[in-house]
Amino acid sequence: MQNYRDVWAESLKILQRQVSVVSFDLWIKTLEPIDFKNGTMYLSTTSETAKRQVLKLHNDQILNALKQSSDEVLNLKILNQEESENLHAVQTDVVVDEKVMVDEVPLCNFNTKYTFDSFVVGKSNQFVYGAATGVANHPFTKINPLFIYGGPGLGKTHLLHAIGNHLRKNQPELKVLYVTCNNFTTDYVESLKSGNASANSSFRQKYRNVDVLMVDDIQFISNKTGTQEEFFHTFNDLYQNNKQIIIASDRPPKEIATLEERLRSRLSMGLIQDIQLPDYETRLAILQKKCSQENYNVEEEVINFIAEHSDSSIREMEGMLHKVVFYAELIGQEKANMSIVPEALKDIVDTSKQSVTPERIVDCVCKYFNVSKEDIVGKKKNKEIVEPRQIAMYLIYEMLDLPLMNIGDIFGGRDHTTVIHAKTKIEQMYKENNRIRVSVNDLKNMVNRV
Ligand code: ADP
Ligand code: MG
Repeated sequence: MQNYRDVWAESLKILQRQVSVVSFDLWIKTLEPIDFKNGTMYLSTTSETAKRQVLKLHNDQILNALKQSSDEVLNLKILNQEESENLHAVQTDVVVDEKVMVDEVPLCNFNTKYTFDSFVVGKSNQFVYGAATGVANHPFTKINPLFIYGGPGLGKTHLLHAIGNHLRKNQPELKVLYVTCNNFTTDYVESLKSGNASANSSFRQKYRNVDVLMVDDIQFISNKTGTQEEFFHTFNDLYQNNKQIIIASDRPPKEIATLEERLRSRLSMGLIQDIQLPDYETRLAILQKKCSQENYNVEEEVINFIAEHSDSSIREMEGMLHKVVFYAELIGQEKANMSIVPEALKDIVDTSKQSVTPERIVDCVCKYFNVSKEDIVGKKKNKEIVEPRQIAMYLIYEMLDLPLMNIGDIFGGRDHTTVIHAKTKIEQMYKENNRIRVSVNDLKNMVNRV
């Protein structure tokens, strides 16, 4: 991995934006990264009190920031002084172990929070959940490879870890390796750099000696010809030996640009399953589950509010929940209620609602697609204008629920059937087209931001 101190420095930048100045100065800034091992970042505190406060108030936020800064961080350990000093003694043992087990596949630390039990199943993800549990219960059968795709923050990594945790528990004899595409690339580049046969063979040893290989965020393989070639051979080798392969990506194989055809066809050979945006009920259920898992004390109205105001990613929704809980703690409110929501979520949603107007939506769409207001409400029929126009119509309908005729009026007196057409078309494309889905979600966030 990149230097873990750099990862911590990155995380600090993220945390500074998320926590209050007081908390940042008092608890976060004083943390010291002392090691990174097997996916776990070790941070030391100056006292037992500091450790307790950090664990109570910021553990999840810190872990999230670390994960955002590096794909390799899976866990976080906050240590008091004594534990920090002991860490090095423990490390010596681990090094010895590693030497003995040089031919073994490194054990992955799966995030223990990411299990099938903690995964809420709804319409948006029931098929992918079925496929993932299918593979976890019966690897090496028909579903091979399993290819999971969906937008960011919708639970792909959660499912891969859930498979890992499940296999670790039920078939501990299996060698299960989880890597991100970037881990794979780095390992491959390292093996090339050292230029000797033994580095190459230890790379192969690591990847071809597994029973189950999971590669997360495979879309990053696009444009990396050498890595694609190596992955192709790894894939074939594992597949021919009847090993299980599981892949996650933010888009289906056919939409990964510059992917070699032969690799594309390999990736499409098994089951391709998408994960969609969750509906309101599923979002509610996820929030409720999260609250009971983390012992959060939050009024139902607040949960409903968050579920209503987040429809682009579960990660973002969880972020909102954390913010509210944190804010409640900060001001000493035992059960987070609506009174704190405007302040706690002021950066994320416009709680006054009034400022979302058709004009605001049109302005945002114009800015986002870099088109002029005259064009978007005007008569031009080229694709560069028509698509933003249709998206704007769709968003006004979706977000404000205005009568169709009024929407037509905003766009130069167009007929209501034109608005219906736009709405149906974008709805359809939202389901099928990743680019449109991303644009629509970005725009909703943009519009909602004050
Ligand atoms: P992705 O890999 O698709 O970007 P993650 O798997 O990292 O997304 O999920 C983001 C966050 O949302 C994680 O904290 C995860 O636990 C949570 N999450 C996603 N889907 C669900 C679900 N169906 N039930 C519970 N939590 C979920
Ligand atoms: Mg992920």
